[in-house]
Amino acid sequence: MRKPFIVGNWKMNKTIAETVEFVTAIEKELSGNEACTYGIGAPFTALKDAKANAKNLVIAAENVHFEASGAYTGEISIPMLKELGVTHVIIGHSERRQMFNETDEALAKKAKALFDADMTPIFCIGESEAQYDANETEAVIRRQLTEGLKGLCPHCASKLVIAYEPIWAIGTGKSATKEIAQNCCAIVRDQIKVMFNQDVADKVIVQYGGSVKPENIKEYMACEDIDGALIGGASLKVDSFKAIIDATK
Ligand code: 13P
Repeated sequence: MRKPFIVGNWKMNKTIAETVEFVTAIEKELSGNEACTYGIGAPFTALKDAKANAKNLVIAAENVHFEASGAYTGEISIPMLKELGVTHVIIGHSERRQMFNETDEALAKKAKALFDADMTPIFCIGESEAQYDANETEAVIRRQLTEGLKGLCPHCASKLVIAYEPIWAIGTGKSATKEIAQNCCAIVRDQIKVMFNQDVADKVIVQYGGSVKPENIKEYMACEDIDGALIGGASLKVDSFKAIIDATK
């Protein structure tokens, strides 16, 4: 059985003080016995304090470099995150692909390096509005998975968290219908079966992301192939993240 996983992606938001306030408030809502696992992706600067105040909340980083060390000014390595006790890293978010030239090739290296360090990637994929309009969604999903997960062994792949986030639904308030989200998450699972095997496909966690909020989380979670969500805007306020927890625990 797959345990659903709901993660807030804070992007470039929250100071250390704001992080501590949020994590402390949300921890009060969690016993660890919920039907879902909950987490947040926080900026690098806030990770240490987020970890120090988290018990049941998973703390994820929002990016990482694939090399362990070296001349990469401004980058953060996997050993640096591991030292903080961080267990998950969001990689391949469309904002990083579009604005910071994140490539499928680099992502494949990041995914492999994370598994080598016994950490879990939250691997993001999704088509642009133009690709959606051109009926290229399925091809984009299959290609991003094929290229970005190249070289992973089935054992590692079975531990993946994959976030399907159509770019046209991110931060727009224009969420995908539950039919579109389910259909695309089913394509993700099928592609994992094609690349690995049925057992891996059955185990992989597939999240939907894009304008998820307290009012629509339940309809996504009711879909067969959707095992959680990656949430931007609605994860920034304690009240709305708490409402998402209340709707799903
Ligand atoms: P929104 O929930 O704000 O649409 O953002 C989604 C997202 O990018 C999560 O990674």
